[in-house]
Amino acid sequence: METPAAPPATPPAESSGPMGYVLAVVVALLLLAILPSMIAQEKGRSMKTWYAYSFLAFPVALIHSFFLKAREEQEKCSKCKKPISVLALECPHCGARMVFDI
Ligand SMILES: [Zn+2]
Repeated sequence: METPAAPPATPPAESSGPMGYVLAVVVALLLLAILPSMIAQEKGRSMKTWYAYSFLAFPVALIHSFFLKAREEQEKCSKCKKPISVLALECPHCGARMVFDI
């Protein structure tokens, strides 16, 4: 009687070593980082900056984004106190550079 040769059991490669783990974390962070950056953008912050921030320090950025105060459409120039766009890098009235705050 012939014993059928057991087919070599090849378990699915679930983990491809530490590199696979690192890659999974990076991909997860890339996706997760969208959330705080969208919250921050809704509150008038730079989405790109917040995306980088979220990617590097996701838990901090997430909590930070929840506590951000929404910026008004117009804010006052710190120098001449005239209303300017929150997106302006320089005051159109006096030319003062706006300090970018996260
Ligand atoms: Zn000004």
